[in-house]
Amino acid sequence: MDISIDHDKCIGAGQCALIAPEVFDQRVEDGLSVLLVQDPGADQYEAVREAAEMCPLGAISTAGAARPRD
Ligand code: SF4
Repeated sequence: MDISIDHDKCIGAGQCALIAPEVFDQRVEDGLSVLLVQDPGADQYEAVREAAEMCPLGAISTAGAARPRD
């Protein structure tokens, strides 16, 4: 999974760090989101997807992590 954060959109709302704390954190100086890992393991995919969906600014983009087939 390749994750990117658009810092022009991010306002530091912190949803991502709450939902996926192993992947996202917030910068001390301004609260903007930072990635702790660029390419998290599959066990984090669902949390990262949820974080992207819950971000109020749509600042998180993900690629390369297709949902597993049922
Ligand atoms: S949820 Fe969105 S706006 Fe809030 S800190 Fe994370 S990336 Fe930024």
